[in-house]
This record gives sequence, C-alpha cells and structure tokens, in this order.
Amino acid sequence: MNKLSNEEINNIRNSVNIVDVVSSYIPLTKRGKNYFGVCPFHDDRNPSLSVSSEKQIYTCFSCGATGNVFTFIMDYEHLSFIETLKKVADIGGVSVNLGNVKSTSNKYQELYQIYEVAQLFYQNNINTEFGGSAKEYLLKRDFNDEVIKEFGVGLSLKDNEMLTKLLIKKKFSVEDLIKSGLVVNNNYGYQDIYYDRIMFPLTDISGKIVGYSGRIYNNEDNSKYINTKETPIFKKGELLYNYHRAKDECRKLKKVIIVEGFMDVIRCHINGVKNVVATMGTAITKQQVLLIKKLTPNVIICFDGDDAGARATLACSNELINVGITPQIVRLENNMDPDDYIKGYGVNRFNHKLEKAMNVMDFKLLYFKNNRNLSNSDEMASYLSDILKELELIDDDILKELTLKKISDESGLDITVLKQQLEQKGKTTPKILIAKKEVKIKPKVIDKYTMAEQNLLYYMLKSKEIIAIYNKKVSFMPTTRYRHLAHEINYFYKENKYFDLADFFSFITDNEDLIKTVGEIQKLDLKDEYTLDEIDDYINTIRDYHVNSECKRLMDKMHNESDVMEKAKIAEKIKELKVGINND
Ligand SMILES: [Zn+2]
Repeated sequence: MNKLSNEEINNIRNSVNIVDVVSSYIPLTKRGKNYFGVCPFHDDRNPSLSVSSEKQIYTCFSCGATGNVFTFIMDYEHLSFIETLKKVADIGGVSVNLGNVKSTSNKYQELYQIYEVAQLFYQNNINTEFGGSAKEYLLKRDFNDEVIKEFGVGLSLKDNEMLTKLLIKKKFSVEDLIKSGLVVNNNYGYQDIYYDRIMFPLTDISGKIVGYSGRIYNNEDNSKYINTKETPIFKKGELLYNYHRAKDECRKLKKVIIVEGFMDVIRCHINGVKNVVATMGTAITKQQVLLIKKLTPNVIICFDGDDAGARATLACSNELINVGITPQIVRLENNMDPDDYIKGYGVNRFNHKLEKAMNVMDFKLLYFKNNRNLSNSDEMASYLSDILKELELIDDDILKELTLKKISDESGLDITVLKQQLEQKGKTTPKILIAKKEVKIKPKVIDKYTMAEQNLLYYMLKSKEIIAIYNKKVSFMPTTRYRHLAHEINYFYKENKYFDLADFFSFITDNEDLIKTVGEIQKLDLKDEYTLDEIDDYINTIRDYHVNSECKRLMDKMHNESDVMEKAKIAEKIKELKVGINND
C-alpha cells in the first residue's frame, strides 16, 4: 500500500465540505454559524449533532461523538481509514493513488479467510455434476443463475470431510477451523458441519461472509435450516442481512422494508423489491435499529403473518420508536411470510400491501384487541390502558390525536377524558426515553484539578498560543487520558507548526479512546474567548496538584524515616514546596 503524506491526506479532506458530506447522510438545519442534525451515533430524536463549516468538524453534545469528515464516514459506513480516504477523494474529485488497498488487518483475519475459501468451494460445487438436483431445486423456486450468483448461493457436498481437508491443506489451524463454526471435532475426527445442503451465505454489514444458513433440499422436510453458531465475526444482533446490498436502494427510495428471514429478502429481490433487509429472526437490537436509522427514517416492518411475527412486530416498532422512528406496519394474511406471500399471490399484491401499510398505532389497536372481548368492561379498560401506554411513546401529535379519536369511538368515552388519562400517565410513569436521558446528563462531580485540566485542554484545542503556554509551564497533566491527549496535541503542533482540529482528527483516526476524550472536552460548556489570567489559573491549579502530590510523597517518606537529621531535611523540603505554591 502506498502511504499518503499528511499533506495529501489534508488535501483530500479539504476537497470537500463536511457540511455537504454529512448532509448527504442526515438532514441538517442551519442555526447560527453551525448546522444541526439528529446524531446517528446514539439513540436520539433531538438535533444534538453540530457540524461546523468553519472548523470542518462535527460534535454531538449528547454522546460526545466527534471528528472530521473521515471519522464521520468511517463510523457511519463502517469503513477503514483507507477505504474512507478513497471515498472522500472520489467525492472531492481528487485523484490519489492508493494502489490495491486492502482493508486494515483484522484480528479475525483467519476467520474471514476461512469463509473466503469455503465460499469458493461451495459456489464451485453447485456448478459441477454434484450440483444438479440442488440447482433444479433452486430453479423450481424461481432462482436463476444471476440470483444464485448475486447472493452467492452454493452447495456443500455429501462427503463431509471435503471442506475440512481443503482448509487444512491451506494451513489454517484447527483451532481457527473450529472457531469458524464450519468444522466440528467429533468421534470421527475433524469434519464439515455442513454436508449435502444448499448454502446461503450470511454477510456482515460490509458484505463480508461471516456465516451460512444451510438448507436441506433433497427430502420432504425442506424447511430445515442450520445456521452457523455465533462466532467472533458472526453476531446476529449486530448485522442485518442484505444491508450492504440494499443500502443505496434504501437511500434512493427513502424507504426500507424490514423482514425476518433471508429467504424473504431474496424473494423480494427476485421480484424487483430491493430495499429490503432482514433481522435473521432474532429480536431486533439497539445496534440494528441504529443501522436502519442511518438508511432512512421511513421504515416498513413486514414480518411473518403468524402470532410470533405480530409479537416481533410490536417489539421492533418500539425499538424504532425509541430512536425516533415511527414505522409503518404490514401484516400478511394466513400466517404467511413475505416469501410465501409473493410465491402465492404475486409481487403486485405484495407491493399493494406495502403501499397500504398501516400506521404503527393502528397496528397496536389490532394487536391489543386480539383475544379480548371489548364488550366486557374490564377487558375494555385493560385494552385502553395498554393503548394509552403505547401512546405515551409516540411523539407525533397528529397520530396521537387520531388514535385517541379511534379509541374514544370504540369505548364511547369522551376524548377529553382519555386525553387527561394520557397526561396523567405521562406524569406518573415517565417515558422510558426521558428516564434514560436524565441518567445520562446527571453531571458528574469533578474536583478542581480535573476541571483545570479539562479547561486547559479545551483551549489548547482552540489555540496554538495555549499549546505553547502549556509546553512552557506545565507539560504534564495528572490524569492519564488528559496527559495523553495533551501529549498528542503537542506532538502534532511540533511536527506541523500549526494546529487545526480537523487535521488533528486525521492524525488520531485510529485511536478511538483519544477521539472520545476530545469529544468529552468539546462538550464542555465554555465560552469561546479566554483571558490569559484564566489560563494561568488553570496552570497554577495543575501545578498545585503536582506540588501537593509531591508533598504527600515526602510526608510519607518523612513518616518512615528514623534518622532525625533526615527527617528535618525532608520537612524543610516540604516547607519550600509549600511556600512555592503561595508565592506563585
Ligand atoms: Zn450522539
């Protein structure tokens, strides 16, 4: 790989405006000098992310996420620094020669490589003489060669040692083979976990293969799948099936459809519906909803039509609502999943269902009505209580009003009574979200030394004058992570003879902890201007700290000293140190 100079990296960064780039991912509104948007890096619905055109940086005042255009894209798209450089250079129209770059090395490199080998093996098999009946099975289900190729569908062979032998020949360690979830060590030795199955690769959000779903195809019991166990690279709760393939389409169409299974995704894709991702049948996680939020706020949940699917729909909608997305819901008749539905009724009818998706509260009305006899007043009361509870989570006033109107009609209760109930509820049981936030913003009590360090760093990040003063007068901070940050700021300044925060971020991109510390400092509510007196105060406080800890050390020493003369010497030293503080 060609290593780029700092100057080249800065040129790439300067070829774009961070405001344009960030606003291609999330909507920004101008307020004063800066632009604001809803932060994609934590669950929020308030615009706490500030983007500065002047400084070319972004900062979230809630979670502390901060950085320049590179770190934004790296975190948002989960790209490596090199991949990001390429992307930004592309946007800015700068030509760079990064050669044949590979993503940065990963500690699970071997596991990814095992999957690369397995994938070539499985894909090849399906096109050999052994693949005949598997291919027939797929073609019968409307797969064509193009889809088989695009989704990487392959075949594991009847001989259950083939892949293992191949991998061992390629010098992978047996520990890694076991860890990959593709090989098992049983009474017969090392063997393939998958044999004689159609292999559907499961990918992480960047498109790398990290697992398989192996499907029986040659007997009646054809619903049987085996999914790879969770491994260090395959964590169901962190990935969404088809994310890498669907993300552009979702952004283009400003809509994403979430389904449960990978077969639903492929069936949709075959029929031209390509803005679809799947949860892989597990309860949706915070990480997954944040990924979805990055695509678009317009979400349709289209899970399986059975009761389990309805429960999963409810859970998924509430996770989405928690991050500020009000989803729409599609429920399929006859307990069908999207795959069955399209096969049975055709894609036109499916598309019609999508167009007629119901709002989330209408879904909840149906959900909570299910198995209840609303002519019974007790059951009506508990139904109303459930709905009011769900309404508390909703921000959309119109949707709230509409729903209140509906339950007023259903129950015969006056809408103002229901509204009062809702307000009352809001008071007694605070929203989950508000409760969470209060915990987050509870100010930590910090001592004056820490505060001085923080304040000094705040201005070091703003002015090279302060960096120089720090160098001359302090050059050492008591708190390790602040000391580390001050050191890096200094180093950057000495190397480059200037200090610019946006360039500094390029310099520390691979140090997450350091970026976090910068975020923490940036979040401080300090004024832009400073006086040298204030800076002196901070410096003196930090010096006091050093003196005090030195005094403490000497006191301990004196305490342990048996020689009277030595004791006196130490006492003298302590006195001198203390005088030093007072005269400063
Ligand atoms: Zn944030």
